Amino acid sequence: MRNGEVSYWWQARGVPSRRPPLPGGTDADVCIVGAGYTGLWTAYYLKQADPGLRVVVLEQNFAGFGASGRNGGWVTAGLPGSRSRYARSISGPPRGRDGVRELERYLRETVDEVARVCRAEGIDAGLVKGGTLTIATSAAQDARLRQRLEHERSWGDGPGIVRYLNKAELDARLQVTGAVGALYYPDCARVQPADLVAGLAEAVTRSGVLLYESTRVTSISAGQARTAAGDVRAPVILRCTEGFTADLPGQHRTLLPMNSSMIVTGPLSEAAWKTIGWDGSETFDDAAHAYIYAQRTADGRIALGGRGVPYRFGSRLDHDGEIAASTVAQLGRILRRMFPVTVQAGIDHAWCGVLGVPRDWCAAVSLDPRTGLGWAGGYTGQGVAAANLAGRTLADLVRGVPSPLTTLPWVGHRSPRWEPEPARWAGVRGLYALYRTADRMEAASHSARTSPLARAGDLISGIPH
Ligand SMILES: Cc1cc2nc3c(=O)[nH]c(=O)nc-3n(C[C@H](O)[C@H](O)[C@H](O)COP(=O)(O)OP(=O)(O)OC[C@H]3O[C@@H](n4cnc5c(N)ncnc54)[C@H](O)[C@@H]3O)c2cc1C
Repeated sequence: MRNGEVSYWWQARGVPSRRPPLPGGTDADVCIVGAGYTGLWTAYYLKQADPGLRVVVLEQNFAGFGASGRNGGWVTAGLPGSRSRYARSISGPPRGRDGVRELERYLRETVDEVARVCRAEGIDAGLVKGGTLTIATSAAQDARLRQRLEHERSWGDGPGIVRYLNKAELDARLQVTGAVGALYYPDCARVQPADLVAGLAEAVTRSGVLLYESTRVTSISAGQARTAAGDVRAPVILRCTEGFTADLPGQHRTLLPMNSSMIVTGPLSEAAWKTIGWDGSETFDDAAHAYIYAQRTADGRIALGGRGVPYRFGSRLDHDGEIAASTVAQLGRILRRMFPVTVQAGIDHAWCGVLGVPRDWCAAVSLDPRTGLGWAGGYTGQGVAAANLAGRTLADLVRGVPSPLTTLPWVGHRSPRWEPEPARWAGVRGLYALYRTADRMEAASHSARTSPLARAGDLISGIPH
């Protein structure tokens, strides 16, 4: 089994040779720090709208080295944050429920926008829009799904946006051992994440954007991004560093680098796929508190992810995605419990990455017109589609054009800062210990009641449901 090496996705397509680094100080109209989906989509839409703009992207490693080349490959319309918090957001013009519903509508439309650009730019990322399932494997999880459905309906989401599937309806799509029912959301696509980010980087450079790799930005201030090779001077500097943000001066408590870990099986036999079904390429997660997420890959494997070690003290990062043997074992147990036939295929590769979590779990897109400093991120693990919408929004904000995107309720949203260490470390580790205990208790009890431990965890953490 391979461990780390950035991700299975990159190893499957081949780790790219690096583009040249920044040769020295230079001037630009817009400088973007970070070449993941957020930075690259922003560059893409800026150039589409105004081909004359001088756009420079600075990447410390290679494009797609971060979460964008390591994720679960759900292009999901899921809202990265809490509806009620966005509705109350007072940073921009108050938009209330209508603003939140508009943001959700744009996120759904974004799934198709990503597919459209893939077609237009010849990006073959194995994208299939099969929707997504949240599966209950206990009575308590099933009860939570039914409550969630009621909540979705109270926000006006009809059966075209989400519907409940009973066990027989679920089994007809996908056979998961112990599953009792599911919620189905049609607005989600499965993708090979590294193929998407690599194709996007190529499209961006084709359009004339200067993308420099192996170029670490050591500080950002109004008008300049500093690197060892020289400064990029630009009236607009955009920080698109999500889970890596804590490493930049002054940003240590802005976004918590939350870890997520994945495993991928070897290719499954025809007979195994006959047992499992899953012909629709839906992505799925479960309704556990420490949930897992999965996709059937375009090359006939199962890729499954979960929290593993949730957070490293002092916001430390992983080394090229390497994960602990205990996390591989834990995810492997879940995989075999859900799909016993996967035992034969074994686990080929395991890796991890970091995603950015703001203290109130609500993503934001911002540009300060006085300083020209902007940023987007904090998608809390729902960033594949959201980064596209954020990129389009940043492009409109930078160009100062009137646009329905620039008044969405996540624009200008401000989250509180994280607690200093060791409170941050103790809080996150304690929270996931609570969630795992709550999951075990719910599975053992057969009761439809959510564990009070998990309720306490939700209250303390502020995680939206
Ligand atoms: C294991 C895992 C599974 C996930 N699964 C899903 C999923 O299925 N669906 C979903 O919607 N979301 C998922 N996410 C979240 C999603 O992948 C991210 O939210 C999204 O990719 C963020 O994109 P980004 O461009 O903002 O950040 P990143 O992709 O992390 O890119 C940031 C880039 O900035 C660079 N950088 C950082 N600091 C500097 C610096 N100082 N100088 C220069 N460059 C710098 C980094 O090297 C990196 O390439 C997952 C995340 C992980 C880790």
